[in-house]
Amino acid sequence: MSEKIVTRFAPSPTGYMHIGGARTALFAWFFARQKHGTFILRIEDTDKEREVEGSITHIIESLKWLGIEWDEGPDIGGPNTPYLQSQRLDSYKKYANILLEKGLAYTDPYTEEELTAFRSKADEDKKPFLYRNNRPENPPLWDGTKPLRLKIKDIKVSKWHDEVRGNLEAGPEALDDFVLIKSDGYPTYNFAHIIDDLEMGVTHIFRADEFISSTPKFLALYEALEIKAPKLVTLPPIMGPDGKKKLGKRDGAKDLLDYKKEGILPEAMLNFLAFIGWNPGGEKELYSKEELFNTFNIGNIQKSGGKFNEEKLLWYNKEYISKLPEEVFLKELSLLLPEKDKKILLALAPLIKERIYKLSEIKVMVEAGEFDFFFNTPTLEINKLICPEHLRKGASIELFHIKTHLEKITLLLDEVTDWTNESIKNAVWDYASKEGRGIVLWALRYTLSGKEKSPDPFTIAALIGKTETLKRLTYASHII
Ligand code: GLU
Repeated sequence: MSEKIVTRFAPSPTGYMHIGGARTALFAWFFARQKHGTFILRIEDTDKEREVEGSITHIIESLKWLGIEWDEGPDIGGPNTPYLQSQRLDSYKKYANILLEKGLAYTDPYTEEELTAFRSKADEDKKPFLYRNNRPENPPLWDGTKPLRLKIKDIKVSKWHDEVRGNLEAGPEALDDFVLIKSDGYPTYNFAHIIDDLEMGVTHIFRADEFISSTPKFLALYEALEIKAPKLVTLPPIMGPDGKKKLGKRDGAKDLLDYKKEGILPEAMLNFLAFIGWNPGGEKELYSKEELFNTFNIGNIQKSGGKFNEEKLLWYNKEYISKLPEEVFLKELSLLLPEKDKKILLALAPLIKERIYKLSEIKVMVEAGEFDFFFNTPTLEINKLICPEHLRKGASIELFHIKTHLEKITLLLDEVTDWTNESIKNAVWDYASKEGRGIVLWALRYTLSGKEKSPDPFTIAALIGKTETLKRLTYASHII
């Protein structure tokens, strides 16, 4: 039987969830799902100074919004509970003692002053400062009040394989006696994640590239504990829109839930994130969650940075908005325009769908009064009844021509019995074609909407009803 795949997402609760974290979580999850493995959510809360209150809840909420599902985690438990590092201190202590027994860990006895002196000495010698050059001869017994350091046994060139980056290596200077457990009793990230990955059976570590430089230290610890290292899958950095700098706060590295507030759909965000630094090849860009589970592979993760392009996100969002059922728009509109005729609101859905990139734009449109003419007779500026395009082209058209057209249309529409988009169009089409559709239909549309841009006149007329349509036409002819 092949090995059971276990991946994890291990955020630190030091703030909100951003694009980079979400992308890491997504890839680890895709891989676990595809391999019918396990995906774990683990919270790395051992840096108490950097911890931000509320961020665990926030991270969980963000992941849930995206639709990511974990098999084990702090909120749902699992066979490796607890999933909060701050509650796993006994495990770290156990492995710290194993290392102490092996003579591979020692108490760091130094005071700040002593360390400063070591540093100045290294500076004078024009050498980098390394703890391993200053190991205490007789370190005191470890009682938990002083830092515990790993004693690197083998100072050598480190070589390892990364599933994305290929074969990597680093010189001996990358190895130093790093802290395993701090004087506050909490482990460092470097130590804790290795113990947790071991105890939780993690087979593949998906993480950002900032951890490459520390990998020699991790390898030294795997060696010291005589354990097999999980496979390392380093994700490419996410670059800003110019492709040159890593994504910063100003160009999009914001809180994931801000996108939710702005009306980005989780399906769109998921699809968009999947394509930052990964591409299955081919033309297809719209992938459902299930399709991503099936298609995702480590081999297609790129080495170089993936660009964060907000326009692309909006493109995805528009695609997913166009698939939404009309009831979603009705719900949004009913909240914004609670008193209005539901039939009209529902009919507005396709018109809105066509225009928006984010759901939040519905509110903007409502507040800008874009739909007012569906409910109230608009005020008209007489001159705008003449199509500006035709005027620009130098057509000799006068307002009294428009008045004649509107009067004729009034008569034609008065005859219509089944008041539908189609029959309204049929009733005026021949006349408009004979007299010039541009001129006639513009006048009709402007009469009904009072706007230079709006849906076509048949749609508006059908929605506002026959009586209101005839009323608006009569009013326009009257004021000319
Ligand atoms: N706690 C680390 C972070 O938030 C996770 C790194 C890892 O996945 O091992 O950056």
